[in-house]
Amino acid sequence: MNEPGIIRKLSEEVVNRIAAGEIVQRPANALKELIENSLDAKSTNIIITVKSGGLKFLQIQDNGTGIRNEDLGIVCERFTTSKLRKYEDLQEISTYGFRGEALASISHIAHLTILTKTAQDKCAYKASYENGKLKGPIKACAGNNGTQITVEDLFYNVVARKGALRSPTEEYTRLMEVVGGYAIHNSQVGFTLKKFSENTDLKTAMKSSVIENVRIIYGNTIARELIEVEILDANLKLSIHGYITNVNYSNKKGILLLFINHRLVDSQAIRKAVDSVYSTYLPKNSHAFVYLSIELDPKNVDVNVHPTKHEVQFLYEEQIVEKIKTCIETKLLGCSSTRVLYTQARLPGAAQPRDVADQPTDAAKTSAAHMVRVNPNVQKIDKFFELEPNKTNQLTRDNASAVVNDVDQQQKIPSEQDLNNSIVKEPAEDNKVQEKWKQYTEVGQANITYVDPKDSFKTRTFQYQRIETKLTSVKQLRLEVENNCNSNLREILANLIFIACIDCHKSLIQHSTKLYLCDTTRLTEELFYETLLYDFQNFGFIKLSNPLPLEELFVLGLNGSTQNSEQDSELGDTGEMAQHMTQLLLSKRAMLYEYFSLEINGNGELLALPLLLDGHVPFVGALPTYLVRLVTEVNWDSEKECFETFCRQTAKFYAQPNPDPNAESVSSEHRRQEHVIFPAIRKYFLPPSSFVSNGAILQIASLNDLYKVFERC
Ligand code: ADP
Ligand code: MG
Repeated sequence: MNEPGIIRKLSEEVVNRIAAGEIVQRPANALKELIENSLDAKSTNIIITVKSGGLKFLQIQDNGTGIRNEDLGIVCERFTTSKLRKYEDLQEISTYGFRGEALASISHIAHLTILTKTAQDKCAYKASYENGKLKGPIKACAGNNGTQITVEDLFYNVVARKGALRSPTEEYTRLMEVVGGYAIHNSQVGFTLKKFSENTDLKTAMKSSVIENVRIIYGNTIARELIEVEILDANLKLSIHGYITNVNYSNKKGILLLFINHRLVDSQAIRKAVDSVYSTYLPKNSHAFVYLSIELDPKNVDVNVHPTKHEVQFLYEEQIVEKIKTCIETKLLGCSSTRVLYTQARLPGAAQPRDVADQPTDAAKTSAAHMVRVNPNVQKIDKFFELEPNKTNQLTRDNASAVVNDVDQQQKIPSEQDLNNSIVKEPAEDNKVQEKWKQYTEVGQANITYVDPKDSFKTRTFQYQRIETKLTSVKQLRLEVENNCNSNLREILANLIFIACIDCHKSLIQHSTKLYLCDTTRLTEELFYETLLYDFQNFGFIKLSNPLPLEELFVLGLNGSTQNSEQDSELGDTGEMAQHMTQLLLSKRAMLYEYFSLEINGNGELLALPLLLDGHVPFVGALPTYLVRLVTEVNWDSEKECFETFCRQTAKFYAQPNPDPNAESVSSEHRRQEHVIFPAIRKYFLPPSSFVSNGAILQIASLNDLYKVFERC
């Protein structure tokens, strides 16, 4: 028979150590308490130095009030605090710590030293602690105003805890999170975090701003997408202020910085609510950056549900969570119309074609017996033109495919970052087409997919919330496009196979067994004209790297157009005209921004152009002329004509290829046409009937007939 265990009372020291280990579970918990003490002491600059993720050495230096010499004896005893005198104070307290436990706990599980000086004291005092008590006499020494707390060998006497901790690197990451969080929340206070005898890892300035600190800590990708949120509710005694990322930003790892009454905490309820709102706007399994500072009546918060005070509970949780959800939802709805594509800083030519391999392969609707075209991605005519003189020399039958690959690789594939920055998603049907194609290629070489010509602008789907325009004028213009569409041509273009660019204005395409010559510029102009009508109010932005003064652009544009004109003098002073023109566009600024994402600031500087097609940037050399035409050719007086002429001029501008004859820009122009323009034409373009007869699309050969010719040979 087993003997019953004998119950012994644990020594006070062990009890305290266990309790301390509950409160301080890892260096980051200790640091949080110490930062809060420094903030309570009105510090404006806090410097943190660590060694081994804070396990060996964790020091925090502040410039706050300091600790009075006479308090140094008891400061590390349990339940000693300068912030609470009677029980009722608990309800009113607005400082962070109020249980007088932090320093006591730390002293039970680490070597703790305090060096402090108040403004009144002539010198600083230094004291070391063990198990809540002074370890030796308090020594007078030199020091600055404020407090420096040093924690060494954390958990030296709690072997189990030490073993459970992860690597110093991971602990350091958590320290960074804590410092980063408090630095963002307390942007007026300067924070520095560094590893012992190494360079600074994180530093924010005093009197900085929330956004600036987000930029320093989390980078510009997040900082530039922030929108401010604010909720006030007198009934709930609630006020919320914060910054959240808009729908342009998403990341696999979400960030929720939640402060309740200025304490960094977590709340599962809020976390879930935030995620559920964003899930409708962001791609699957990706999250946002959310920083919220919630202030509640302290009476309504219970921070003591968790020993480390990490999780909090508060009254009226459901209502508050609901308020947060609605607020974020409204904000996201408001911004979902502004898709932003951040192109590279330098224009033009910043756009890059999509990965060729991602494009579904296509073939015409024709029986396999008549199939002549191979997968257009495998081999194209332009590969046999002199793209790269030194390489074409090697182009023999045997190594032709090797050269083809080589050329393909030179096409710059967009980096993940580029794609992430753009939230313009492919229509959902595309995936189906791709799936379909995959099946076909698996089965055999007969890679036939057929795009129903009825798929048109009308069936475009987007993953983000679209604004449906209420303007009848725009709807009328769309209707005109649809009525004017030639369905035969639509069928041809919807199933086109791109063969080659002849030059920047002409291309060859194939449909079924027929070969066509297209006027690329004309097709592109028409495509953009339609895009402007169908994506009305839903454009992204092409942000210019520098604001461009309109007036100067107008001067350039005017000089360009009058160079050969004899009426030069009659036109009057160019400068004055440029001024008038700027005024006109300035007066239309709000409309241009809302409907067309053409952004002009109050100083008459151009900030952004509309993003009509992902991957396409207009030739900026034509910008001055375009702006002049906006003033002279657009009918600003009547709504429908205004939109029609504006869309027409803009489409002309966007369709203009870069005339630079140098080989590199020509080939980049060709690539753009092949990988950006023609895929869009396949997908969306409704060709007007006039294209049948005006030479925009000409049939130049029928392969059936050609075969016959060959057969005779
Ligand atoms: P609490 O913060 O709950 O009062 P702590 O154990 O964290 O308990 O701190 C005990 C006391 O030590 C505080 O009430 C405060 O008076 C003093 N103290 C701690 N850190 C600092 C500091 N950095 N500057 C000034 N006083 C401090
Ligand atoms: Mg404290």
